[in-house]
Amino acid sequence: MSIHQLELTYIIKKIKELKAFIVGLQFPEGLKVHAIKVARQIELKTNATVIISADPCYGACDVADVDMRGLVDVIVHFGHRPLPIDYDVPVIFVDASSNIDVHGCIENAMNFLEEYNKIGLVTTTQHLHILDEVADLLEHNGKKILINKGIGTTRGQVLGCNFSAIKNMDADAFLYVGSGNFHALGIKLFTHKPVFVADPYLGEAREIDKFADRILRIRYARIAKAMEAERFGIIVSSKKGQSRLELAKNLKNMLNEEGKEGFILFLDDISPKLLLPFMDLDAFIMTACPRIAIDDSNIYKKPLLTPKELEILFKRRKWENYEIDEIKYTI
Ligand code: SF4
Repeated sequence: MSIHQLELTYIIKKIKELKAFIVGLQFPEGLKVHAIKVARQIELKTNATVIISADPCYGACDVADVDMRGLVDVIVHFGHRPLPIDYDVPVIFVDASSNIDVHGCIENAMNFLEEYNKIGLVTTTQHLHILDEVADLLEHNGKKILINKGIGTTRGQVLGCNFSAIKNMDADAFLYVGSGNFHALGIKLFTHKPVFVADPYLGEAREIDKFADRILRIRYARIAKAMEAERFGIIVSSKKGQSRLELAKNLKNMLNEEGKEGFILFLDDISPKLLLPFMDLDAFIMTACPRIAIDDSNIYKKPLLTPKELEILFKRRKWENYEIDEIKYTI
């Protein structure tokens, strides 16, 4: 990811239009190294003073609008598209698109897609600008390409917590353009169809089945470990885009119905260290970012389950119907 001159020109124009005197900047970890350069440019070319948010930032679910309310006139948030959330401060969202070449990984992906005709195509913010170009490439190779808009997300975009762009899509297989396996895993578990990753950073394509099998085995073990639990912590995030208090209350009721105790824990950043004072609880349920329970489960001492895994534990959902937890946005 990088920040392009065109994006900087756009930001400076918007700040001048808004007549903003104090500007907040917020970057995901991979872009923070550009913060000083961007701040310097803004202060040189506008009358504004810049305040850089140095806290971790995970997504458009985590805009610093609450923290910076009253401090800044506008926030420039890099690396994510807006979600249907009422932000407390005007926010300028900047994609920080990747300029990495995708041709190599798409060519590799063609080998995996040979036997499929209708391909569902998705990606993340960093590659949305080249999605139609990728679709053209695949269509040129005889494929029919399906791209849908999700609920609250941009056309062709998936998030680690939202796969609405692929729901009800009549595809033979799915191609995810981007790094990592989590998004492809989510698509696999929602569709049970073949899913492939075209990874521009590694310049390769791969299928997701082995990874999905490994994750499912780990999840099964975590649920089994939580079978003996009597006291559960239900984690609720204070981040506006991740906060699901209603869900937490429903889970607490479910626990009570099953004869267990549930205690709601409200926190901003979630880490094993912050849960240490609560080790008299036997297991935790994560209602914040759905990635935490899957990506970080091995660093937590106690089983950390998703809400859907709790349903499996109490036999309210069949293991065969395992799904990644999702944050559903309304518009
Ligand atoms: S909740 Fe998690 S997966 Fe969803 S946008 Fe935020 S950081 Fe990404």
